[in-house]
Amino acid sequence: MPTQAFGWGVESPDDEIHALRFERRDPRPDDVTIAISHCGICHSDLHFAHDDWGMSNYPMVPGHEIVGTVTAVGPEVTTFAVGDRVGVGCMVDSCLQCEYCTGGQEQFCVEGPTFTYGVPDRNGELTQGGYSDHLLVREEFVCRIPDGLDMAKAAPLLCAGITTYSPLKRWGVRKGTKVAVVGLGGLGHMAVKIALAMGAEVKVVTTSPEKAEAARAMGASDVVVSTDPEAMEAAAASFDLVIDTVPVTHDIDPYVTLLRPNGTMVVVGALEPLPGVSGFNLIFGNRAVAGSAIGGVAETQEMLDFCAEHGIVPEIELIKGEDIASAWSTLEQGDIAHRFVIDVAGSRSG
Ligand code: NAP
Ligand code: ZN
Repeated sequence: MPTQAFGWGVESPDDEIHALRFERRDPRPDDVTIAISHCGICHSDLHFAHDDWGMSNYPMVPGHEIVGTVTAVGPEVTTFAVGDRVGVGCMVDSCLQCEYCTGGQEQFCVEGPTFTYGVPDRNGELTQGGYSDHLLVREEFVCRIPDGLDMAKAAPLLCAGITTYSPLKRWGVRKGTKVAVVGLGGLGHMAVKIALAMGAEVKVVTTSPEKAEAARAMGASDVVVSTDPEAMEAAAASFDLVIDTVPVTHDIDPYVTLLRPNGTMVVVGALEPLPGVSGFNLIFGNRAVAGSAIGGVAETQEMLDFCAEHGIVPEIELIKGEDIASAWSTLEQGDIAHRFVIDVAGSRSG
């Protein structure tokens, strides 16, 4: 039987987010049912809600930084039990058979992963995300929240955490690596904290000089204001790795210029065309420009354990469900150097 759910969502690309009731799909034998306590607000939620990427379906309940407690398990579930503290990120299903799924990169499943909200699942039913009271998820896509992590602060790790941990690890960040983080928002501030925990020397490249204090408080050794040509010139050729979290189309060449020879710039922000890569800039310095998409489920668990072990948590601002619309407009302005997290359990649920 489908279950009745309560949440916050949109019914068209230009709709304002509002409270709504909707139906969750029938439980399946391998499902974990989760009472959601908190859900982070990722900038991707805005892109999806506004159909910026042309793949959205409505009505849509966004949210893919989900934490909560298991309230029921299907008869085939073996790894979770009622009462467990769990988290779910950007995916809720994939084929689990192909070389990418078996290699720990379910995000590149040859049949396509099922995203947590806004798309038809493998049975053709629309997925709905974590801005809601509960969720049903196939157990292979559920992570465990380590005991030491606060639930509200764990939520943003499920997307912002893994999306930055994965490239920092893949490009071998270690003691002494010089890392620049472009954009001090939800992803950016997690990149700063995780890179520091891996031993890197981290600087923040920002359009917002007023974020300098926050960046330094997080441990960044310096702040480069990207709108200041002199500051950008002074920072040229000084980083091994640049993580670019800017959420809109932008000229990436100024950031490529920041790379030392053999350095790599990893784009995790904009899914749009990125104009302005100079061949000269890439060739003279063996520089590379790469992309990175979230991370697999096992790597997400590894990241959660890493964050618990190193005491890494995001800076969060806890809000109620009725405040999501105003949080979205703040995020659209790029004004904050932290993550909004919805106190789902503490918001109206009836
Ligand atoms: P966010 O919290 O809004 O942070 C983005 C930051 O980028 C802003 O705080 C701002 O930082 C900077 N910025 C904003 N507009 C800019 C502009 N026009 N030019 C230069 N800098 C600008 O967003 P988020 O949640 O971190 O997400 C960032 C992007 O990553 C989004 O596009 C999201 O969809 C994407 N994303 C990708 C993946 C993936 O798998 N690759 C996963 C999750 C999210 P400053 O004020 O410091 O300049
Ligand atoms: Zn996200």
